[in-house]
This record gives sequence, C-alpha cells and structure tokens, in this order.
Amino acid sequence: MVANFNSLNFIILDNTAFVSAFDPNQVALQNPGIRFYITSSVYDEAISNPRSSRIIEIAEDQQILKLRDPIPESLKYISNTAEDTGDIAVLSKTDQGIIALYIDLKKDFPDQNGIIISDDYSVQNVCALLKIPYFSYQKRGIKRNIKWEIYCPYCYETFPSKLLGKKCDHCGATLKRRAYRGKKRKL
Ligand SMILES: [Zn+2]
Repeated sequence: MVANFNSLNFIILDNTAFVSAFDPNQVALQNPGIRFYITSSVYDEAISNPRSSRIIEIAEDQQILKLRDPIPESLKYISNTAEDTGDIAVLSKTDQGIIALYIDLKKDFPDQNGIIISDDYSVQNVCALLKIPYFSYQKRGIKRNIKWEIYCPYCYETFPSKLLGKKCDHCGATLKRRAYRGKKRKL
C-alpha cells in the first residue's frame, strides 16, 4: 500500500501501525525531513513484537523517531472529549495519549502538518471530532464521526458513556453501545 506522506512534517504512530507493518524508515526515504513520534506506552507495546522492535531500532538509529509523552492538560482534554463522544470506555490511556500528543505537537509547531496513524476506530472517531487528521494504514478510516449511545439491550434505557460494559441499574443486563442517530434522549 502506497500513501503519500510527502507533505507531512510529523506522524504519530500507535501500535496498530506497527502491527500493520507500517515502516517509518521507508517513508523517510521519500521524505527525509519527516519525524515520527510515539509515546512511551506505544513504545512498550511495540517493542514486545520482534518485527516492530527491529523497525523501531532502525528508526532510532536514523534519528527519525522520537519518544514523547503528552502533558496532563492535553490528556485531560482528550478524555473529556472521548466522554462526550461515548468512546471513553473503549479508548485506552495509550489511545488517549497519542491524540493528546498531537495537541502538544501542534502547539510547539503550529506551522507543521502532522497526522496520526491508527487503525483503531475510537481513535479515529475522536480525531474526526477534533478535526485531527488521521490515517488508517490497514482498514479504511471511518467516513464521519460517530456519537455512541450507551443503552440497555433489554429495557432500552440510555446511560452516560462511561457506563459501557457495566450493569443496567434497572434489570442488571450488561450495557451496550450503538451509533447514536437523531435527537439525544434525556438521560
Ligand atoms: Zn435494563
């Protein structure tokens, strides 16, 4: 799969990019000025895979890969946003971290073009809402952002997003989520 990353200054990678065999070293051959960023928790996940670990080692040798963690304020902003979209229960701290890192990098380098590479739908959903450019290396990205509604599959009550996977307090069934359409029902 060939994508054009030539207009970009930086790319933030999550572990799904490494799992999909995305190779930053090849992209840097086409665009030598580009820099890649990963957070320390993405790094920890990725180096447990021998192939990803080798890619990371080469990228570090080439000095195209940087390790950086987001500041707490940006993380808080992302977790608040994910709560609004209903993604919070499925968006891991690692996922939140890579989106928050984009916010930090845009503050430091406002004139630079960056993108997040992630195959995770919830990451893409929150990015879409915040107008953060993202690219899915493997799957096709979602077309538009989805708001999730948390509901009980038995009594059809709706609940705040952070209760996904918890029990319905009326009937005890496990709460699910569905794409939300139309007017928001009062909670
Ligand atoms: Zn119920």
